[in-house]
Amino acid sequence: MQVDSVMQQAADLRAGACSSVELTQSYLARIRQLDGTLNSLITVTEDIALAQAQAADARLAAGSAGPLTGIPIVHKDVFCTRGVRTSCGSRMLDNFIAPYDATVVSRLQAAGCVMLGKANMDEFAMGSSNETSFYGPVHNPWSVDAAPGGSSGGSAVAVAARLCAAATGSDTGGSVRQPAALTGITGLKPTYGRCSRWGMVAFASSLDQAGILAHSAQDVAALLQVIAGFDAQDSTCAEQPVPDYAAGLAGDLRGLRIGLPQEFFTDGLDAAVAAVVQQAAQVYESLGATLVEVSLPTSQASIPAYYVIALAEAASNLSRYDGVRFGHRSAQADDLAALYAHSRAEGFGTEVKRRIMLGTYVLSEGYYDAYYVQAQKVRQLIANDFQRVLQEVDLLLGPVTPFASCALGAWQQDPVQMYLGDVYTVPVSLAGLPALSHPAGCAQHGMPVGVQLIGNYWAEPRLLQAAHQYQGVTDWHQQAPDLSWIG
Ligand code: GLN
Repeated sequence: MQVDSVMQQAADLRAGACSSVELTQSYLARIRQLDGTLNSLITVTEDIALAQAQAADARLAAGSAGPLTGIPIVHKDVFCTRGVRTSCGSRMLDNFIAPYDATVVSRLQAAGCVMLGKANMDEFAMGSSNETSFYGPVHNPWSVDAAPGGSSGGSAVAVAARLCAAATGSDTGGSVRQPAALTGITGLKPTYGRCSRWGMVAFASSLDQAGILAHSAQDVAALLQVIAGFDAQDSTCAEQPVPDYAAGLAGDLRGLRIGLPQEFFTDGLDAAVAAVVQQAAQVYESLGATLVEVSLPTSQASIPAYYVIALAEAASNLSRYDGVRFGHRSAQADDLAALYAHSRAEGFGTEVKRRIMLGTYVLSEGYYDAYYVQAQKVRQLIANDFQRVLQEVDLLLGPVTPFASCALGAWQQDPVQMYLGDVYTVPVSLAGLPALSHPAGCAQHGMPVGVQLIGNYWAEPRLLQAAHQYQGVTDWHQQAPDLSWIG
């Protein structure tokens, strides 16, 4: 039986209990067996994986291996990977072979990680259910009729179904935390500026942040250690020292103050999710934390503010897809204007088009002040609210999503319902704060439920420590879906 944890695999590799080639082959076999049903990967990079695994084994034998050398991972298809299709879940980029690696990718590669493939995702990371992908929906391994969450749903499912040890993701308004919660794994969205966005296909640049999905906080810490840190290629990447995340995991939680924002526990919250958050709060209390009720009144304005700002930035970022330089080019066009129009009409899916139209509208003359400028003011108020509360408490605890699970197809006719599901994740994104989602219980039909911890800027060590201590006394993060019925 293969072990799931990155840390355990790393120890086994080092001890010679298995080789990276063996580990990689066992994951590739599992991908072949299960991913026809789950659809978590857009591209499987078998040849690259085996070559990287061989190189990792050579480093291990030579004694020059790092902590992650030989660990098989997948990258969300939002990250550019040199010589490999980087589709971003879109027909527009179906034929795009990236000419360079994203910084996140090159850092993990330099650390010796093995790339098994590129994970499915909502088109251009726009969505919460992974159904907007050009490559079809991803299925939740806990119930294949359920959505895995989005937009990093392929990454989350690949980890949850044990098709890789860990995965990269991106989070603009919740896309790491939400699928992590719905698939029973641990996901971290770092502070905005903690990780480089270089080579990550842009959705909303002031919100996009690379993140990690893995089984445990300890595993997340190991990968964060590699991807965090300044990169001169990204002007919004902070020159902030990178602490030793593994060293910060130890120590009990006595004296930690955890705030429960009252606005996160109102009528719209599913009772099963509320119960899981309350139980998690009690576990944190038993570990020495003090619970404090706090209030974040402006967080209620976060959905409209997010969907103005994110869509405005998306409309601007996606103007680069014109059918001329790269990406899909229509065969229908006989002049330049028609080339633009047809290439974009054919290359983008419905949700992306909807967002480009809305984003263009809020940026247009006469509406810019009423919508875009107003949303930026609201964004500042939300950030101020968090700063006020985070003077009183060290961390905030709350739900990740208002619902316990979401059936595939449920949001297809009603995107606004999908947008409302982001109510607990987008305030954090607007403020640029770090947040971690970890499994903490289950709801009807055994579907996993996650909880969200939110910290102040650069408080990743505190988030990881709290979650690690929680995971030391509980086993939700070790639960695995039963997939033995698949072929
Ligand atoms: N669900 C949100 C949206 O659709 C967040 C997506 C993301 O974080 N990439 O915009």
